[in-house]
Amino acid sequence: MASVISANSFGQQKTNIVYIMSDDHAYQAISAYGGALKNFAPTPNIDRIAQNGMRFNRCLVTNSISGPCRAVILTGKYSHMNGFVANEGQAPFDGSQQTFPKLLQSAGYNTAMIGKWHLGSDPTGFNYWDILPGQGAYYNPDFINKDGSHTEQGYVTELITKKSIEWLKKAGKSGKPFMLMMHHKAPHREWQPGPNELSLYKNVVFPEPSTLFDDYSNRGTAELTQDMTIAKTMRLEEDLKLYKDKSKMKTTGLNRMNTDQMKEWDAVYDPIIRYFYESGLTGDDLVRFKYQRYLQDYLACIAAVDKSVGEVLDFLKDNGLDKNTIVIYASDQGFYLGEHGWFDKRWMFEESYRTPLLISWPGVTKPGSVNEDIVSNIDFAETFLELAGVKIPSDMQGLSLVPVLQGKTPATWRKEHYYHYYEYPGSHMVKRHYGISTERFKLIHYYYDIDEWELFDLKTDPSEMKNVYNNPSYAPVKADLLKRLDAIRIKYGDSEENAKSFLPHKSNSR
Ligand code: CA
Repeated sequence: MASVISANSFGQQKTNIVYIMSDDHAYQAISAYGGALKNFAPTPNIDRIAQNGMRFNRCLVTNSISGPCRAVILTGKYSHMNGFVANEGQAPFDGSQQTFPKLLQSAGYNTAMIGKWHLGSDPTGFNYWDILPGQGAYYNPDFINKDGSHTEQGYVTELITKKSIEWLKKAGKSGKPFMLMMHHKAPHREWQPGPNELSLYKNVVFPEPSTLFDDYSNRGTAELTQDMTIAKTMRLEEDLKLYKDKSKMKTTGLNRMNTDQMKEWDAVYDPIIRYFYESGLTGDDLVRFKYQRYLQDYLACIAAVDKSVGEVLDFLKDNGLDKNTIVIYASDQGFYLGEHGWFDKRWMFEESYRTPLLISWPGVTKPGSVNEDIVSNIDFAETFLELAGVKIPSDMQGLSLVPVLQGKTPATWRKEHYYHYYEYPGSHMVKRHYGISTERFKLIHYYYDIDEWELFDLKTDPSEMKNVYNNPSYAPVKADLLKRLDAIRIKYGDSEENAKSFLPHKSNSR
């Protein structure tokens, strides 16, 4: 049967593309990346992509927040060029502009977008799309497609997987090359585990990051004034499901559960709620409890994503599609799992700046290879176009990863990366900043309402706890990076003046 599906009536051998993206999936929570959580919450199916292909250790995003990352991926352009700079106070994505799905479609690809879109406007460039409205709901979610909105019964990760496999079944038989974007909502806040993973980690005690109780000394105003700590910002009820008043479930969509789903939920959470309110935890003990509660739910959401990836990989293999299909796994950006006492993203620090990227390309990429080059989500569009034999438009700003995947990174490959975050004032109050990162150093400028600089030496300070901007021994490094930052901003057409034209945003209540 397999040969029937993989046969192509036009003799076409263009590579199929399956792009799987989750939302807020930290590389610290993927066992292929190693790390302290590896043996506590493994991701065996996502790891299969790394085993079959390449693990990228330094894939950096250009603006660490959902909508902007998605716009960068579609356009191969920085936020200031594609016009989608922030989630809050932002006009919908301009879908009339050039995107890689449109270019693939013109080249004869059958294209689909299934799951979380989060760009405000309807998808363009897709033969088929079925998306969640906004952030979407975990339980019994609404979907929007060309025919309008409808509600489906079930858990969002499982529904997106089912829809994707149904589409792949048809696409695999269509005789055309295909490109699927399967975008999971999970493991986005408020980290609501599915019915099959509810109790998975409820008795597991996870290791704490060494910076869980960071006091932000040796750094500046931005770190001291943010609002994204487990200690203060994370909410007991909505985030950690320690509901005293279950009518509050409405604000996070948990009221969408049906009676049976609610019964299973309560059977797991009611004992935790009882324990918590009887325990009277305070201070560091409370932070520690919140951290464990957070990870138990976050990682349970990921377990369902991992299962989904396994189902897609199995489907491709069972139907003879695996040999001619490149499979990519990424998150929209990275995330904090208690590092610096935080959850969420936004910063140019490694945990949110780096996103996981695993790619298997059978017959081309060496199985189990590991790449240390500076790559970026701005490279994805160019990569997909080259794979499809489509000329990369000169106004795209990234680089195709095709030679990197072939194990032949050009000597001219980038040695530095540019970053710019805009969403302030806004949720979590992370100040606007831009900066440049090399393999070893990172220079950051916080602007808009302050004017502060930070310089980090990732070799001597991998956790980024000590700003050495004013340390005289780093003067030559600082001078070099300041020069390179100026040059890279000119190269990409960005400036502070330019940034001011996008803002200010209205602060959102969440
Ligand atoms: Ca995200």
